[in-house]
Formats: sequence, structure tokens, C-alpha cells
Amino acid sequence: MAAYKLLLLPGDGIGPEIMAEAEKLVAFLSAAGVASFETEKGLVGGAAYDAHGQAISESDMALAQSADAVLLAAVGGPKWDGVPYDVRPEAGLLRLRKDLGLFANLRPAICYPALVDASSLKPDLVDGLDIMIVRELTGGVYFGEPKEITDLGNGQKRGVDTQVYETYEIERIARVAFELARTRSNKVTSSEKANVMKSGLLWREVVTALHARDYSDVKLEHMLADALGMQLVRRPKQFDVIVTDNLFGDLLSDVASMLTGSLGMLPSASLGGADATGRRKALYEPCHGSAPDIAGKSLANPIAMIGSVVMALRYSFGLGAAADAVDKAIADVLAAGLRTADIAGPNDTPVSTSQMGDAIVAELKKILG
Ligand code: NAD
Repeated sequence: MAAYKLLLLPGDGIGPEIMAEAEKLVAFLSAAGVASFETEKGLVGGAAYDAHGQAISESDMALAQSADAVLLAAVGGPKWDGVPYDVRPEAGLLRLRKDLGLFANLRPAICYPALVDASSLKPDLVDGLDIMIVRELTGGVYFGEPKEITDLGNGQKRGVDTQVYETYEIERIARVAFELARTRSNKVTSSEKANVMKSGLLWREVVTALHARDYSDVKLEHMLADALGMQLVRRPKQFDVIVTDNLFGDLLSDVASMLTGSLGMLPSASLGGADATGRRKALYEPCHGSAPDIAGKSLANPIAMIGSVVMALRYSFGLGAAADAVDKAIADVLAAGLRTADIAGPNDTPVSTSQMGDAIVAELKKILG
């Protein structure tokens, strides 16, 4: 049986509550013989600041470097609003992304049949929705230099951010999108603003050339980012894999997330480059934050966290069949009417975080026989 090392970083707020449900799933998968998972735990965010005065310690960074995958729940909360900027909770997350070289952020937007009414769009527009947004995560305008506010000395200031991409950065993220499309519906929509931005023009040129060279079997279309935003809420099911830069990906993946009803449902994966053995550094986490408003009350929905384990099974461990089985268990439990408070309708009696986690594992047990 293959053996894998997982680093668990529960973090802050609802983090420990939802991570407990991920741990139940991982323990079950090990016991069921799907694979052997060895887990270690570390601190990140406010929890790490309280313990070490840093948003993540050097020893936990070393564990992250040596793990086959990192599972992170969420960081942050009002308790740490006043801490110095470089040790604020989010700094732990940014350090992990940077040091592990996680340039590809995968955010699926899947609408479970039982939750079509929770979407802000009409049911027939989102029923069966299954989109994967691939966002470039380590370049673009969030990192480009110069990045500054200059005092112009005449009572005015100038703020500058720089959008910058090089060929290799575009190629490696587009490659991830094309490879993913081959495992799905074989279509990639590449998005930028080639009509008004030079970096967008280069983006389109590089994606087109890579497609012609290595991926001509995949259907490729280009769509300006503003048009894509409009199409996402007009006819979202036209998309399969969307690949875009850091800024547009940030915006468009948040729009796509609301098509599915609740933030508590959405997992994500952040992947690095493949090494000689094909192994990628990887971090899996829910899209939502630490939800301090409901922390400690057993109200949190653990499905985004459990879905993050599913993504790890699929993208780090090649356990597609096990991933499909957990996905089916989630869909079955929702179809049976189980709801945490965030997805409950007026006539539902919400279940707790651990009741939802237990129900998913129990359903999985049935599926795997
Ligand atoms: P949030 O995602 O934590 O919460 C937004 C709303 O969604 C809240 O009402 C919350 O109760 C609800 N919600 C979120 N996850 C839920 C779940 N699993 N189940 C049920 N309801 C859920 O965003 P916020 O309130 O803007 O931020 C709170 C803290 O989280 C801040 O400190 C912020 O910086 C941090 N944050 C962290 C991350 C991360 O760790 N990746 C991401 C976003 C925000």
C-alpha cells in the first residue's frame, strides 16, 4: 500500500473544528486500505503567532517542505488585528505559497444537485455545473515591481502596481490547465485583457503557441476577462477549465464560487512545479476564511475542508477512484437532506460540524463496501 505524509495545519477560528473532520476522513481512508496516510500537525496564522511570535515557525516550514501534501484549514481573526504586518496570520499562508513555489491555484466550482436552490442563479443555469478555474498565484500585479506609493511633493501621491509576466510563467500555468482539461471535458478558456494590456497580449501569444505545440487535441478559446465575468453569470455551464492570471483569477473565482451557493462548500488546491519524479509540492485548503463569527459553536460546514482532502487524493496521490467515492458520499449526504446552518433552508434542522463529517464518512463506508 502506498504511504504518504500529510502535514495538517488547522490554523485559527473554525480551522480546528473543520480539520477534525478531515482527520476522520483520512483515518478512515487509511483503515479502509485506500492508502497509508501518516499525519503530522503544525501551527499557522494566529495560533503560530501566539506560540512562537511568527505566522509559521521554521520547523513547521521544514515539515511542509518534506510532506507529500499540506492540508490547511484557515487563518486569521480579530484577535490578531493589531500584530505587526510581517507576522500577521496571512503571512504564514503567503510564506507557504512562496517557499513551496505554489504557482497554480485550482478552484473548482461544482453545484451539487441538492443545492441548486442555494445558488444566486436560476436552477437550470447551475444544475450540473462543474468548472475548474486555474489561477496563476505567484506572479502578476500582486508581486510586480515597482510597487509603491510616491509622494509627489505637491500635495499629490502616486500609487503604482506593476502587472508583469514572463513566458515561462504563462507556459507553466497554461500547461496545468491543458493537462487538467484532458482529464475533464477537454476544453480550456484562456482569459486576459489582450485588447488593452501588453501582458495580456503576451499571455494570449504564449498560450496559443503552447496549444499548437503540445495540446492541439484540447479545444482552446480566448475570452477577454470582462466578457468572461459576464458569461460566468449568464451561461456558466459553457466553461470547463478557465486559465487566467493572478488578479483576474482572484475576482473570477470569487464570482464562480457564489454560483454554487455557499463558501463553506468550496475547496482549493495550490500546486508547484513537478520534480524529476513528477511529484509536485501541494497545499490544499478551503476557499473560505476562519469565520470568527461562528468559531467554537459547531456550526461550520466541513465540506470545503473535506473537499480539499478529495483534491489531494486526486492531484497529489493519483487516487481518482477514492476521490470520486468521497465526492459521491458528499452528494448522497446532501441529497438525503443533511444541512449545516449555512446551507439550511427555512424548513431544515441544521446538523453540527461533526455530524456532517460523521455522515460523510458513514456514507463513504457504504460506498466502498
Ligand atoms: P470568512 O470566509 O471567514 O467568512 C465569511 C462568511 O462566511 C462568514 O459569515 C462565515 O461565518 C461564513 N463561513 C465561512 N466559512 C464557513 C463554513 N465553513 N461554514 C459555514 N459558514 C462559513 O471571511 P471573513 O469573515 O471575511 O474573514 C474572517 C477571517 O478569515 C479574517 O481574519 C480573514 O483575514 C481571514 N481569511 C482567511 C483566509 C484563509 O485562511 N485562506 C481566507 C479569507 C479570509
